[in-house]
Amino acid sequence: MQVQIDRTACQAYGNCADEAPAVFRLDDLGYVQLVGGDEVPADQEPAARAAILSCPARALHATE
Ligand code: SF4
Repeated sequence: MQVQIDRTACQAYGNCADEAPAVFRLDDLGYVQLVGGDEVPADQEPAARAAILSCPARALHATE
């Protein structure tokens, strides 16, 4: 599973980093960044999916 972030859509709510801190983090202004690359480790996929669903701005997407 790979994740993509749309920083132009991100509204800095922070839900993603709360749900999946090993995948998403926030920059100094509160906008999303990837912790590692766009490939999500298998053990982090459930958290990443929860983060994607938690984003009010729909700024996170996944591809298999
Ligand atoms: S939950 Fe969505 S809007 Fe909030 S910081 Fe994460 S990507 Fe941005």
